[in-house]
Amino acid sequence: MKSIYLDHNATTPVDPRVLEAMLPYFKETFGNSASRNHSFGWAAEEAVDKARGQVAKVIGAGSKEIVWTSGSTEGNNTAIQGVARMYADKGKHIITCTIEHKAVIDPCKFLETQGYEVTWLDSDPKGCISAEQVKEAMRDDTILVTLMFANNEIGTIHPIAEIGALCKERGVLFHTDATQAFGKVPIDVNEMGIDLLSLSAHKVYGPKGVGALYVRRKKPRVRLQPILHGGGHERGIRSGTLNVPGIVGCGAAAEIALAEMQTESVRTAQLRDRLWAGLSEHLTEISVNGDPQNRLPNTLNVSFLYVEGESLMMGFGDIAVSSGSACTSASLEPSYVLKGLGLGDDLAHSSIRFSLGRFTTEQEIDHTIKRVVAAVNHLRDMSPLYEMAQAGIDLSKVVWQSH
Ligand SMILES: *Cc1c(COP(=O)(O)O)cnc(C)c1O
Repeated sequence: MKSIYLDHNATTPVDPRVLEAMLPYFKETFGNSASRNHSFGWAAEEAVDKARGQVAKVIGAGSKEIVWTSGSTEGNNTAIQGVARMYADKGKHIITCTIEHKAVIDPCKFLETQGYEVTWLDSDPKGCISAEQVKEAMRDDTILVTLMFANNEIGTIHPIAEIGALCKERGVLFHTDATQAFGKVPIDVNEMGIDLLSLSAHKVYGPKGVGALYVRRKKPRVRLQPILHGGGHERGIRSGTLNVPGIVGCGAAAEIALAEMQTESVRTAQLRDRLWAGLSEHLTEISVNGDPQNRLPNTLNVSFLYVEGESLMMGFGDIAVSSGSACTSASLEPSYVLKGLGLGDDLAHSSIRFSLGRFTTEQEIDHTIKRVVAAVNHLRDMSPLYEMAQAGIDLSKVVWQSH
């Protein structure tokens, strides 16, 4: 069997229908969408506007509220730094949580060096932040709450509508990094009280290097201090010639994701549950990380006790997944997200994230189960720790001697 890709939360392949939609915009329709005085420019602008509508529709926004970016890292930075600098007179307090993506954590840390104060909420053991926690953290000088819609490592979905309602009540702007949720679960920025939302095309079968930031235009009209200054494109929020083929791809990807969301979420959740059923049928001492209920349909994060995730990945060969210690792969630090749930180093180090996608098949899942079960059994057979645990020795009480 050829290699199996179960790492869709890292990136997805471009859907052939998306590629087809993009191709003309590299060739005959290559104009600059900012060129106002000839048909090449008009054709490009028309394509960009169509894509704006396609993306807006997925989240219940107006097309004028979509600002094109290079992806979610830029979207998050534009939103967080943009609000912080625009509303600094009102206050300098921001609320976020410890298990955000680095593209939210790092801009918040940067703002801490610039005189802002950040409250870092801890998640519960399932990876969830409650509206209650947000409420308790709010202060008179709070200007922004930024919390991810769904977590990329464990798939947990936050109570976004409740948090949004709370922010509305208190007049605080609410940004959500919806990179993993966009196109996978229903989103409505008005019903959910979202003021700013980041998304990225390459996580939904679009091209890399393009994405969008939703910026609310009324009730309230959100203003952002731009990071990039230049030609004043995108309402002055993000200057620079637009990536027209990429944007066309982002729009096409959004339209397909919306059209297929219902059937796809059922299909991938079934495959995910099949994977878990197969693993737990054949293996003991494995557990699911995250919230088994409020979770993305495609994500399964499992700890295999007494087995090290990186060795396990090597053990089962040509199946692409992520491990809880591989995230910043240069270091062997266990994932801060799993640690944030309260997992010990042993469980964090022994975790694997399986993220399924549009082209994942039942055969691939069955093959994965077989390979993972064999690799786990093989590694456990060689593990003195596993042998001791099987003999009934409580490993937490063992005094390890060093020489
Ligand atoms: C992938 C991802 C990002 C980064 O998006 P890019 O478009 O690659 O910059 C940010 N947040 C989350 C939750 C992600 O999964």
